[in-house]
Amino acid sequence: MVEILVEKLLTYAELKLALSTEDVKYYRNVLLNKFGLKKPYKGVINVSEIHSMNNPQMLIDELCELIKTKGLPPHLSFTDPEAVIVDILGMMTPIPSVVNYRFAKLLKKDSNRAIKYLYDLSIANNYIQQAKIDANIRWTAPLDVNYFEMTINLAKPEKDNKEVAKLLTEKPEDKYPSCPLCLENVGFGGNETTPPRQNLRAVPLMLDKEIWYLQYSPFVYYKDHIIVISEEHNPMTITPRIFSKLVAFVDLFPNLFIGSNSDIPIVGGSILNHEHFQGGAKVMPMFKAKDRYVLRHKNERKIKISILEWDSNVIKLESTSKRRLLEKAAEITANWLNYTNEELGIIPFTGETRHAAVTPIVVKEKRKYIMYIILRNNRTDDKYPTGIFHAHPEYHNIKKEGIGLIEQMGTFILPARLKSEFGLMEELYKKGVSGAEMISDHPTITKHAQFIKELMLSKIKPVEFETYAKNYMTEVCQNILRNTACFKADAAGQAAFIKFLQL
Ligand SMILES: [Zn+2]
Repeated sequence: MVEILVEKLLTYAELKLALSTEDVKYYRNVLLNKFGLKKPYKGVINVSEIHSMNNPQMLIDELCELIKTKGLPPHLSFTDPEAVIVDILGMMTPIPSVVNYRFAKLLKKDSNRAIKYLYDLSIANNYIQQAKIDANIRWTAPLDVNYFEMTINLAKPEKDNKEVAKLLTEKPEDKYPSCPLCLENVGFGGNETTPPRQNLRAVPLMLDKEIWYLQYSPFVYYKDHIIVISEEHNPMTITPRIFSKLVAFVDLFPNLFIGSNSDIPIVGGSILNHEHFQGGAKVMPMFKAKDRYVLRHKNERKIKISILEWDSNVIKLESTSKRRLLEKAAEITANWLNYTNEELGIIPFTGETRHAAVTPIVVKEKRKYIMYIILRNNRTDDKYPTGIFHAHPEYHNIKKEGIGLIEQMGTFILPARLKSEFGLMEELYKKGVSGAEMISDHPTITKHAQFIKELMLSKIKPVEFETYAKNYMTEVCQNILRNTACFKADAAGQAAFIKFLQL
């Protein structure tokens, strides 16, 4: 009965969301009213069961079951049980000023504790949908040198680069909230295009004399996946101002990395019209990569400059001097934005349109600052209309979205459809269906024709399908990363890369 669920929700909020006992009577009446109930349940509920919940999924499931058997309570303004729970848990989560106060207090003592506080709160109120995230498919893929972290993410919608570019031209005044990143999403009830965010809490940070906000990513691509967002709805621009903010961030959170996507379509992130960074635990495969080349230069004692042994073009700067690091980062970026090498197809502009961009990422190790600058270019031509230095068309069956900073660091987030598509191929392969039949009878897997062809030639045993498919996806992702490199791995590409660094 719904009355019991109300009591469970109140107990859950007390145990997991720090709802004060003083406020329980008040919220009981709010919930009774919300569900159209006349009086509360008087019996005893199982508190230890609620204590043992790691997230509110069981409460959502219970409401689903109640709606299925008894129909939707007449007073509810939502029809989706998950939206009902988000609304209720959002209401019983401490209000932003309280969260901000607690976060700031913890941050003064220990940044890890501050981050953990926001993380636990975000899971408890279902902003991070942990139950869904646990269902994602993950594996670590060793490569000849280095490794990748691979994830098929079941919650994240697949984006289209054309749509991403179109968003840039949208006028924010036409919409409320102006974009999915704007602070005005905190507490928002949701509409056709924007998800409900009653349970979102974003805490303010001072980054190099500007207020920015930190929140968790609802999709949690990796440990402590946070987003740091500017207060104003301004388009992304990667300039020395941004580098200073990244460095200021790691001074506050030395145990996290922070980076920004590039500021142009195809090579950038999915929301270019609002400045934001992405950060998290230092778990990215790229951080483990060795140097391929170390630049010898005067001033060597102050800064180390190297090219990373990596599939895309990563320059690594290391220095205990913030000033020196920032100066060098600005210099390399300015050089790249104007660098032309027609033989290699690297052209920074077409008329007024800029193609060159960088993706910066910063970490701190004890007193040393490390900045990774990834060189990007989004030019297209007749052969590669979706991008010369983007995933080439033969790999779009696996990933066609922009290859942003997370993939650049070796963590590949693949679309949910791959689970069902590869599941279907496995089932058909086990049944002994021919490759030609697979392709002609199942339109959803036609895009994987090349994989099917190779699979048929491989003659692997059906039990080996999963490993075979994962290896294939890893190989495709490595090729995609190589596609994004402007200086290719051949002798001419590497010689030009070193020459660029010496500019
Ligand atoms: Zn915005």
